[in-house]
Amino acid sequence: MNVDEHAEELASTLGVDKAEVKSDLENLLSYSVPIDEAKQSIRRKHGGDSGASAAPTSKDVADIDTDDGNVTVTVQVLTVGKRSIRYQGEEQTIREGEFADATGKISYTAWQDFGFEAGDSVTVGNANVREWDGKPELNLGQSTTVAVETNPVETAHETGGDTDLVDLRAGDRGRNVEVRVLESEERVISGRDGDTTIRSGVVADESARLPFTDWGARPELREGEAFRFEDVYVREFRGVPQVNLSEFTTVTPLSREVEVNENAPRMRIGEAVGSGGMFDVEVVGNLLEVRDGSGLIERCPDCGRVLQNGQCRTHGDVDGEDDMRVKAILDDGNGTVTAVLDRELTERLYGAPMDDAMEAAREAMDKEVVADEIRRRVVGREFRVRGNLSVDDYGANLEATEFEETEDDPADRAAAVLSEVSA
Ligand SMILES: [Zn+2]
Repeated sequence: MNVDEHAEELASTLGVDKAEVKSDLENLLSYSVPIDEAKQSIRRKHGGDSGASAAPTSKDVADIDTDDGNVTVTVQVLTVGKRSIRYQGEEQTIREGEFADATGKISYTAWQDFGFEAGDSVTVGNANVREWDGKPELNLGQSTTVAVETNPVETAHETGGDTDLVDLRAGDRGRNVEVRVLESEERVISGRDGDTTIRSGVVADESARLPFTDWGARPELREGEAFRFEDVYVREFRGVPQVNLSEFTTVTPLSREVEVNENAPRMRIGEAVGSGGMFDVEVVGNLLEVRDGSGLIERCPDCGRVLQNGQCRTHGDVDGEDDMRVKAILDDGNGTVTAVLDRELTERLYGAPMDDAMEAAREAMDKEVVADEIRRRVVGREFRVRGNLSVDDYGANLEATEFEETEDDPADRAAAVLSEVSA
């Protein structure tokens, strides 16, 4: 069902105006409130019952199915992350994390404070099952009860949320990490409440490097300092996992050193793409093709999009700003990826600064001479690329931070083989 159909259904069962219901629904959904919870809230607003259906059945975690309506589970609380969301125009604190029993673990969202903490064993009565990303999750709302169990619930999963960066995945809540801040910058972004100051950058531990955003803009998160962050959540941003600090995150300076691995993990292309996106990764592949839209390009001054025939997809006819980039297809026999190079890396491949490229284009009266020159220099050679990999329906893009021809290029290898043969 789409929003319109949900609104239609609600309006007819509640006997109220559909336009009003739809506007309320859209408002809630825009704040990431799940559709079931949004509909319950609208039912409550109009005095209907909360829509709780059949009596809940007691289940093992592994047996919970996305088709279950309401269930009762006896579990250990693994993690509790707090987050504040806007709900019907008001700030509301929700709690998210994972429960586990002997059979498995499951994510939950609690829309009020039930008072449980990580490590508690509880029976959660009448939790609503919803589907997220194809998997069941538990929704704890007004009709849910939580009772403390005196006997601890056994589980193979670790309690408390301490995690290495490399193991963080989008959707994780209530995690604790110990990191060194590598890059940190205060920025002002425009949100629905006007301008907001945030702090963002890169953190690292022994296992990996990840981007972070501190929505509280804590000034102490300076480059080079090491901290323990408790209660962070992970969201996907531009295709890679990002550590998020909220107002509920506690930040404690670390007295110990955090060793940081400066190298990006080297991966085969197919495996890197299969992981669904990585912040910092290195691949080596043969450059098969320099794609159209490489060389000299023009960008929209408002949004930075590359112009097509002088037109921005969003802003129409604009006065474009000159830029250079390369989109190159690399293949290592295991997979393919499009490496995207910024102006600086492109100028290096072209062998001259952008002013020279524009001069060459003016002389030839054709911008394509620049892309053609780049093609002549790189196609068929092997390159090492380091950067951020994002994967979506349109393919896999590696936003390059480093792009270098490998030292043992095929011609050298051939020469080496020949000299061995003739020796
Ligand atoms: Zn634009």
